[in-house]
Amino acid sequence: MKVMVVEDEQDIREILKNLLEDEGFQVVALENGINILEDLSRDVPDLVLLDHILPGKTGVEVVREVRSHEKFARLPIIMVTGLSGEDDKVTALDLGVDDYVTKPFYPKELAARIKALARRTEIEPKQNRLTRDRLTIDFAAHRVLLDGHEVQLTLTEFKILSELLKQSGTVLTRERLRERALGNLNVTDRTIDVHMASLRKKLAPLGNQIETVRGVGYRFAH
Ligand code: CA
Repeated sequence: MKVMVVEDEQDIREILKNLLEDEGFQVVALENGINILEDLSRDVPDLVLLDHILPGKTGVEVVREVRSHEKFARLPIIMVTGLSGEDDKVTALDLGVDDYVTKPFYPKELAARIKALARRTEIEPKQNRLTRDRLTIDFAAHRVLLDGHEVQLTLTEFKILSELLKQSGTVLTRERLRERALGNLNVTDRTIDVHMASLRKKLAPLGNQIETVRGVGYRFAH
């Protein structure tokens, strides 16, 4: 997931960049929002973290500009503001930002807010079924078919497999698994391993297509 950070103060920009990269995000950092539409078009992020007070164009002006462009009308935006008064909150939300964070921010809270927003705004897959190789997932019916035969999975296994197949070929990090499939950031690695082992067993002939990427996570290989 890619986050665009717009922040004029270099030290804060660096802190945000490092923090978000540590949390597994890709980061594009900008010093200002003067050319925001061009910057967005060149490298479309999943979410924008926008400072309120910026040189050239204020955060508010940047939001207006972004929102006025059809392509970015629904792009998730979190505003980082030094103002904590109720009025300012209301103004920010009225403007069409999805959330705001007041400085000084707590790194973990900021990361959690970003993830929560990403989850909330994610567009659900249009089709209700997804087929990869010999596996078909029916999201609506919560069923998994292997060569046309139903495989009985627990809800957690179903969610893990869904995430793996949605991004098959690329690595699903443990972090994302915790967040998306398990719904709990405090689940231990050991617990994830147990779910994974069970899932591999149930998918027997395809079990080894779920690869462990050491130190990172898992991947469903094509
Ligand atoms: Ca600023």
